[in-house]
Amino acid sequence: MNKEKRTAIIAGNWKMNKTASEAKELIESLIPLVKDAGCTVIIGVPFTDIAVAVDLTKGTNIHVAAQNVHFKDSGAYTGEISPRMLTEAGVEYVIIGHSERRQYFGETDETVNLRARAALAAGLKPIICVGESLEQREAGVTEEFVCRQVVMALLNMTAEDLANVVIAYEPIWAIGTGKTATKEQAEEVCAFIRKVVEENYSKAVADALTIQYGGSMNAGNAADLLSMEDIDGGLIGGASLKPNDFAVIVGAASK
Ligand code: PEP
Repeated sequence: MNKEKRTAIIAGNWKMNKTASEAKELIESLIPLVKDAGCTVIIGVPFTDIAVAVDLTKGTNIHVAAQNVHFKDSGAYTGEISPRMLTEAGVEYVIIGHSERRQYFGETDETVNLRARAALAAGLKPIICVGESLEQREAGVTEEFVCRQVVMALLNMTAEDLANVVIAYEPIWAIGTGKTATKEQAEEVCAFIRKVVEENYSKAVADALTIQYGGSMNAGNAADLLSMEDIDGGLIGGASLKPNDFAVIVGAASK
């Protein structure tokens, strides 16, 4: 990554794992392991773990993210959580448009944009996920597809908004599969995303934007991926549930 221009962000995505008591155990193990991190450390926890996560991380360098947010402020949306509910609970970041939400829960580019803008309006920082499927990569349409996802996600956002946005490039074929993109493959798309942002905003906005890679990043491959110019951190699924492994990734991003 380019350390002069950007701060690395390592964010865990716990997905639908850990009850509140299990979360307590994991966070208590993690706090001492990452206390000297030279990067931003985030844990993306299930809604039911937010209270315990915010409480335990108070006064530490760990930030708390939710894994989704609705775009309305309140109303008849059974099962949904509003941006204000998250900010009042002490949440700072929110993962939006993860491929699992797009695949299983009907998330679209339009709803990703609505959620991200609502999050920003409430003072949350969205981590917006984009990435192609294996079929799209093999068909040679990765850039076309990712470009559309990025442009649609950022629609009607200002340059000031972009200062609070993180983009996570997560090729679907690499998520939870153990099949990591090579550092060259990951760098190619992260650099492409930065170019798309430059074309739609400015070089200054693009240079300042944190772009993470996600997809089977682990303690063994993190340093290699994070050595690339345009990879400014990671969104970590499986390895974020193992405090020691997550701490190694945080360490790799801190160098
Ligand atoms: C993710 O859930 O965003 C992810 C990248 O998962 P994993 O690290 O397990 O591939």
